[in-house]
Amino acid sequence: MSFDYDVIIVGGGHAGTEAAAMAARLGARTLLLTSNLETIGQLSCNPAIGGIAKGTVVREVDALGGLMGRIADLSAIQFRMLNRSKGPAVWAPRAQCDRTLYRRAARQLLEGFPSLELAQGMVTNLILDQAGGTRVGGVETADGRRFRAHAVIITAGTCLRGRIHLGTDTQIPAGRAGDQPSVELAQVITTLGVTVSRFKTGTPPRVDGRSVDWSKVSRQDGDEGEYRFSFHTRAQRPRQVPCWITWAGEEVKEIIQRHLKESALYGGAISGRGPRYCPSVEDKIVKFPEAKRHQVFLEPEGLDTHELYVNGLSTSLPVAVQLEFLHAVPGLERARMTRPGYAIEYDYYPPTQLTPWLELKTVEHLFFAGQINGTTGYEEAAGQGVVAGINAVRRIRGQEPVVFGRDDAYIGVLVDDLVTRGVDEPYRLFTSRSEFRLLLRQDNALRRLLPLAERLGLLTDAELRGAERRLDEEVSILAVARETTITPAQAARPLESSGTTLAAGERIALLAKRPGVSLGALLEAAGVGAAFAPEAVLAAEIEIKYDGYLAREREAAARLAELASFALPADLPYRELLTLATEARQKLDRVRPTSLAQAARVPGVSPSDLHNLVLEATRWRRRVA
Ligand code: FAD
Repeated sequence: MSFDYDVIIVGGGHAGTEAAAMAARLGARTLLLTSNLETIGQLSCNPAIGGIAKGTVVREVDALGGLMGRIADLSAIQFRMLNRSKGPAVWAPRAQCDRTLYRRAARQLLEGFPSLELAQGMVTNLILDQAGGTRVGGVETADGRRFRAHAVIITAGTCLRGRIHLGTDTQIPAGRAGDQPSVELAQVITTLGVTVSRFKTGTPPRVDGRSVDWSKVSRQDGDEGEYRFSFHTRAQRPRQVPCWITWAGEEVKEIIQRHLKESALYGGAISGRGPRYCPSVEDKIVKFPEAKRHQVFLEPEGLDTHELYVNGLSTSLPVAVQLEFLHAVPGLERARMTRPGYAIEYDYYPPTQLTPWLELKTVEHLFFAGQINGTTGYEEAAGQGVVAGINAVRRIRGQEPVVFGRDDAYIGVLVDDLVTRGVDEPYRLFTSRSEFRLLLRQDNALRRLLPLAERLGLLTDAELRGAERRLDEEVSILAVARETTITPAQAARPLESSGTTLAAGERIALLAKRPGVSLGALLEAAGVGAAFAPEAVLAAEIEIKYDGYLAREREAAARLAELASFALPADLPYRELLTLATEARQKLDRVRPTSLAQAARVPGVSPSDLHNLVLEATRWRRRVA
């Protein structure tokens, strides 16, 4: 049999883009085959990248040579570092992106790989080998073309038997608004004996910014700092623009309550489960009836358009009702709706059917990545794309698979959660999913993953040299901070913000441990900071400040591994265990596990919940004894 390609990737979304980049970086003859070349890198919902935990994934993808960080930097029209009121160890980068610039940059970067071809075609069939159909050997498209490959990665997003809902009466077969659904491919996958399930997600209406009353909404600017996602490139940023904040109050609530039966979600038209953490406005009103108002962000869709994304009002109500409740939002009284919101139901494949390198257990060389594995979010898709792209190439070359550990990367947490615990609702990453959340930071993604990227050959020589220079700089800063003594007079200014003083000379590294004291300011005051890049100083500062916590986190994780056989009392009042996340409390109350090991397998129960569960169960035993 002759093969046209080493790897074919089906789908040009966020999983497909990264899988293609990884395969191409490894020198594989790669084809990215997608139903519409114009929608490569399409941000289907909110045009924003990053956020808490997700921003760290973007930096991990970037450290490995992936594209999401570079694309976001090229298209970011508002950049914010979330959690800045908390310690720098939990800062989270997030960028509002120009939707068109994002697509353009994705395609441009993909076209830069010499061993990667892009082609348009709706994949309708998989070619299987002769020996019992247990190995994939290529794909066929709706227009009759056949493409042979040693491995295939499917990243079809929400397209598989996708069905859009607008109220209870309007249902449109679609992959997302404006895209064909993928029905034949979904049927073929079913014939492979793969278990299929349904999830749903939704998106809010968009409005024309020219019809907004700006006097009634408040402005939110991005951060001043020169933040970027990518460690490897320093893209020229597009113009930065503000977002706007308003509220959905009692009137919106009343309208939605009045029309609740017409919602696809509440009128019984949709059976699949939706993402708990991106609830529809109907959900918010039903689940939090006591809340007086809900925040609504008006986010620009791009620099060349007035269209705004109405973040917070995702809905599956009929179009007329959407318009009615939009007009009840301050500032949107005369808003023109450019596109209605909708809900979409689609097939996903419970990910316990996959190996930890995302290959289907029952069909060799066939990989699944992205939303089809039950996740939600661009970043979660990108992380899986990286894993599938690297491993598809290694598989066909007869090399050992690469499995990211839970202490290596959020990508490791994500894939481990998926393939060992499975999902019972669309899976989204949170810092609480990780037992190593201080270790897995956005600032140290390069340090964590560069050795792997180097070993696998994912980076060019120039990228590698640049990354090493950057990490060396952090080491130099730490050395300078440990060796340099700062005098009380020099330290007076940097200490002002902490309300503390210095009686005698002290090493900078020791002084920087004080809360509210900036390492950068100390280095500068001591006259040894001028040559260092601010990002490298920040990374060194976090290492200094969190030194002790990091050591404790490692110990706690080791102890947790030993506690797997810990028995849980049958009468433990889970709903009252407030140190556990709400999701964990609800699910554990339902399952009532007998051991910590069983609790760990309940989807949605995070390692930190388990840690707290041990403490709570011990306390409970003492109380009832
Ligand atoms: P996608 O980005 O969807 O890409 C799939 C790709 O596959 C597309 O390029 C498509 O054209 C192609 N394709 C499909 N079938 C075939 C085929 N047979 N042949 C060739 N090509 C094919 N995420 C959030 O985090 N929060 C949200 O609130 C949220 N809301 C959403 C609302 C809607 C309406 C939608 C559609 C998605 C939403 N998402 C949300 C999810 C987010 O868009 C996805 O998680 C992310 O895009 C998944 O990436 P992916 O690469 O798996 O799939």
